[in-house]
Amino acid sequence: MALSEFEIIERFFHRGAISRRDVALGIGDDGAVVRVADGCDLVISTDMLISGVHFPADAEPNDIGFRALAVNLSDLAAMGAEPAWATLVLCLPEASEPWLSAFARGFFSLADEASVQLVGGDITRGPLAITVSVYGSVPRGKALLRSEARPGDLIFVTGTLGDAAAALEPDLRTAPATYTQVLRQRLLRPTPRFIVGVGLRDVASSAIDISDGLASDLGHIVEASGVGARIEVASLPLSEPLCRLLMRQRAWEFALSGGDDYELCFTAPAGQGGLVASLARSSDCPITQIGVIESKLGLRWIMPDGSLLAIARSGYRHF
Ligand code: ADP
Ligand code: MG
Repeated sequence: MALSEFEIIERFFHRGAISRRDVALGIGDDGAVVRVADGCDLVISTDMLISGVHFPADAEPNDIGFRALAVNLSDLAAMGAEPAWATLVLCLPEASEPWLSAFARGFFSLADEASVQLVGGDITRGPLAITVSVYGSVPRGKALLRSEARPGDLIFVTGTLGDAAAALEPDLRTAPATYTQVLRQRLLRPTPRFIVGVGLRDVASSAIDISDGLASDLGHIVEASGVGARIEVASLPLSEPLCRLLMRQRAWEFALSGGDDYELCFTAPAGQGGLVASLARSSDCPITQIGVIESKLGLRWIMPDGSLLAIARSGYRHF
């Protein structure tokens, strides 16, 4: 027999949710009631994922559930917020038990890891789409913005760049599976850097998460801050599969323009370099300096021979 909306919520979403002490009322009423700590600001972010646009139509429901939360937690990380609560809106073509069960498994594996409680949502019938909203907190006035980078600040990125985009590259379909599986994993299960994000509150001057590609997203920081940047292309952090599978020039192109990495790009005053290094150690997340903020507007990508690399600022555009 087909599952009703209420059975779906009860079976797959109510039971899976952990309980946080700051949730006065979770799933089940007309609204959730949560308590924001004194002296804190609430940070809110939301992202919609549509089948065939934001994830391959044949992706595993387990991965879809994980990714729907991961891309949202990545936004909180870029704000320096500690994740706390989430809501989930599901638009499903049908109420399939195996699908829902696998989706919930992926979603809650990450929710538990990040201590996030699912406190509400909605379910409707229609083409597959998932909207997650996340809510987190920062000490008042401490949220990291895109607009506070200053000339002389160093530019850093977490992890490696270009892997998720390379996973979609047709030329690489026949490459050895040991490499392509790592790349595909990076696309389907991005690692939201929420621990690093919290650690950056008193360290970084600005931050953004890399969803559209470094060139596009660092472009947002320099524009919002009214500054420019100089980036050493040779210092872009590349994964082993990317280095093994692609000529260096091509790997750099993926690292610059490929989307879906969900790493953080941030700036910090030069005096904070030591704190950045210790954050990398304590959070077990590689952090690489890739350039420096300058007062001259625009992005300048410097090749190893000193020449300027001209790149179109692409990034995925829906319209
Ligand atoms: P209403 O008609 O008042 O909006 P719903 O029947 O949509 O109530 O939802 C009942 C309860 O279940 C609410 O607390 C809602 O937040 C929660 N809920 C609905 N869908 C989901 C979901 N996909 N995940 C988690 N909670 C959900
Ligand atoms: Mg409703």
